[in-house]
Amino acid sequence: MPDQTFPVPAVAGDALGRQLLAQRGRRPADPLLSLVVPVFDEEESIDIFLASVVPFLDGAGFRFEVVFVNDGSRDNTLGHLLDRGMRDRRLRVVNLSRNFGKEAALTAGIDHARGDVLIPMDIDLQDPPELIGRFMERWREGYDIVYGVRSARDSDTAAKRVSAGWFYWAFNSMSPVRIPAHAGDFRLVDRRAIEVLRQLPERNRFMKGLFAWVGFNSIGVAYERPQRAAGASKFNLWRLWNFALDGVVSFSTVPLRASFYLGVAIAAVAVLYALFIVTRVLLFGIDTPGYASLLIAVLLLGAIQLLSLGVIGEYLGRLFLEVKGRPIYVVEGVYEEGAPRPPA
Ligand code: UDP
Ligand code: MG
Repeated sequence: MPDQTFPVPAVAGDALGRQLLAQRGRRPADPLLSLVVPVFDEEESIDIFLASVVPFLDGAGFRFEVVFVNDGSRDNTLGHLLDRGMRDRRLRVVNLSRNFGKEAALTAGIDHARGDVLIPMDIDLQDPPELIGRFMERWREGYDIVYGVRSARDSDTAAKRVSAGWFYWAFNSMSPVRIPAHAGDFRLVDRRAIEVLRQLPERNRFMKGLFAWVGFNSIGVAYERPQRAAGASKFNLWRLWNFALDGVVSFSTVPLRASFYLGVAIAAVAVLYALFIVTRVLLFGIDTPGYASLLIAVLLLGAIQLLSLGVIGEYLGRLFLEVKGRPIYVVEGVYEEGAPRPPA
């Protein structure tokens, strides 16, 4: 799969070239890379991750920091992270006060990163560090967002592959902001896009959607997503379903409008049917049987009404959460080299 700009085409060829040229001129020679890594119950993965990422970045000669966000892990993840952080001052730990979910943890990491470019990464090495080199090449060419596209999803279950395909189709047909299919959070984002992202106030943070909302010139780099290095996925199908629902509802009002159109269509059918019945009564007299059609109409309309109420409820519930305006995450502490250890 060749690399592809997104949206396709972002701007016409010549204009794109000039925008890239302008950005290229602004790129610092020795940028600081911030890896933002949310972690939740991942004590087995930390050393594997560091043993792969740090030598790679050192070898490639990148200046970097790793911002770990401990998302309320219940195991000894924090202890491990702090031990490693003591030995390497490029590692920083943002400890959240409880589990806020991956999207909130990523937001916390983004807020605490200082780099010229940010790279959200999972800790399970499903986001191969070698790709960072290719991301950086594209960034040097002037692209502001370079995202990884999973070319084969062999590491996912069949159910996840199929549902992911449906999700990207459904999302992109309903949302005015399109997201590239099969791209996760693994990407490189330039500081100027991060600054825009940080201004988005919503609590319901569907990060892939928010990155796409920001815009700028983006390009995808294809890669094969490996299996998890250690531990187990934190996302089962039910959690993924809720994640998908959050995504669609926070980027599209089409479901709300759909009940309106459904209502219009059913009303039209009802009017025609009423005309038919009245005409029939006038011509042939009253004909009592009709239990089946009556019951079907009652049940169908009842179902549609409940469904529409449910759709409204989805939006209302999120509106409620947004209006309360609670913070997206709460930081217990930021631990850097030499910083006091929390009580054991
Ligand atoms: N994660 C998190 N908070 C959560 C769930 C997951 O910070 O509530 C982190 C997790 O530790 C990992 C990343 O998010 O670094 C991706 O999770 P996972 O590998 O389980 O997702 P999958 O790759 O299966 O979609
Ligand atoms: Mg994973």
